[in-house]
Amino acid sequence: MAAPPPLRAALVTVGDELLLGRTVDTNAAWLGRMLADQGVPVVRRYTVADDLVEIQHAVAGATTVAELVVVTGGLGPTPDDVTRDAVADLCRVPLDEDPEVLDRIRARFRERGVEELPLPNRRVAQVPRGAAKMANPHGTAPGLALEHRGSTVVLLPGVPREMKGIFQDSLVPYLFSRFAGRLRPVQARTLHTTGIPESLLSQRITELLPQGTGPVGLAFLPDVVGVDLRLTALDMDGEGAARAFDALEGRLEGVLAPWRVDVPGGDPAAGILGLLRERGATLAVAESCTGGLMAKRLTDVPGASEGFLGGVVAYHNRVKESSLGVPDATLASCGAVSREAALEMARGVARALGADFGVGITGVAGPGGGTEEKPVGTVWLAVHGPSGEVVRRERFPGDRGEVRERATQAALFLLLRFLDGRVAPDDPDAGGGTPHQG
Ligand code: AMP
Ligand code: MG
Repeated sequence: MAAPPPLRAALVTVGDELLLGRTVDTNAAWLGRMLADQGVPVVRRYTVADDLVEIQHAVAGATTVAELVVVTGGLGPTPDDVTRDAVADLCRVPLDEDPEVLDRIRARFRERGVEELPLPNRRVAQVPRGAAKMANPHGTAPGLALEHRGSTVVLLPGVPREMKGIFQDSLVPYLFSRFAGRLRPVQARTLHTTGIPESLLSQRITELLPQGTGPVGLAFLPDVVGVDLRLTALDMDGEGAARAFDALEGRLEGVLAPWRVDVPGGDPAAGILGLLRERGATLAVAESCTGGLMAKRLTDVPGASEGFLGGVVAYHNRVKESSLGVPDATLASCGAVSREAALEMARGVARALGADFGVGITGVAGPGGGTEEKPVGTVWLAVHGPSGEVVRRERFPGDRGEVRERATQAALFLLLRFLDGRVAPDDPDAGGGTPHQG
């Protein structure tokens, strides 16, 4: 018997704010990605105002191209939220107050000390007759699914957290039972890299594997701080895919090893804090051009206080001298953006804060301040530790924000590799010298 055709989806996102550009339609992007992961391509998207007729036109149009129509937004309690009414009317079914939903809304309000349910919020308990309900773990409006002209129309709240919660907890299982055998979940693994441009990475992988990557799909996902490689496999079970991914990962090892950030989520800050914890070691950072971004990245990681002591934003030379003990003579003879200044900052902050490891970052973020010798984007990074030191000159492309982000990422990555042994102390050309062009 021939395999059933794949299921196709269409999206309808509802809200005046989406059309006015006040809110970026992240729901459509997220749903597109998540449905694709289930092997369900999104073939059309509509964005419409909070308007009964507009919503009906869009949903009716969507049902002509897709068997699954996902609508988000307009399920709230205010008068402009009309999605529920529009779709019930389109499907020619009445709205009934659902006692179960009403009880849940009452309970949620009571938890917050509100005994009398405000009248508008009662509207949220209206359910089109015959619709399937999906519990909303983060809010009051449940997800709803109903049939119209051979398509399943699913209504989800617009608040992204609520929409995602219902999608993951209820909608995916619902689709698996409703469309048995028509979903083809994609198996995937992501390998994180940083410090190597996408073009160079793809060139090296093509040289290594001129015949391609076999049954495993390979996609490059670059952003400002690095390139993720997404490995995908179709029509494989979890174990088969894991074996295929392991095999490809093994073959790529030689190319990827210097650039990999082998931590879940690919954040070098998380890797650093893990290594510090293992050793019972501590870290302090001295930042000039990054203005505290490295401290932010470290403190974004829960539990950072175990290894990260703190930092000094040494922006003005006076602070480099007074708080970090960078000698006046160093700043005068070498300049604030120099190998010597970065090293003295790393040493000075470790000393001042009593840390085992110190990092120094100093550079020209732009747009002004560049010279022929030290153009915009020039950044010196230094790491000082008990077993030695390492210092790097980098040249980052991009505007002020990008230079600062890239410098922070490069400092984190240098420290990570210093801690995991990929960069040896005082090793002048290990790893980091690649230009960071995308
Ligand atoms: P609603 O359910 O339409 O009342 O939406 C509630 C809130 O969710 C809105 O105020 C927006 O901030 C947000 N929201 C609605 N639709 C979207 C969307 N497509 N993408 C991102 N955020 C959204
Ligand atoms: Mg709305």
